[in-house]
Amino acid sequence: MDKEQLEQESGTLLGREHRCDDNELPTHLKTYKVLAIDGEAQDHWELFSLWLANGDDVASGEADMEGELLNLSSIKVKYCAFCGAQL
Ligand SMILES: [Zn+2]
Repeated sequence: MDKEQLEQESGTLLGREHRCDDNELPTHLKTYKVLAIDGEAQDHWELFSLWLANGDDVASGEADMEGELLNLSSIKVKYCAFCGAQL
């Protein structure tokens, strides 16, 4: 899922992404500066947890196709949850 899709799914406008090698699940866990939520200006970072369907999920009927978003959640963070850098 790219940044534009994540913005659509979460109703946010996102700024830059913090990426580091300490994040072992970079396709599932993404740290972004949040600039707006539902059009309201924001100035904080969030750790997004997004789970995309894999072949097993499709086989078991949990999803219609691979890559489909099964779950999305996020929490406000001030530090990277993986490397500890201040954001
Ligand atoms: Zn980091």
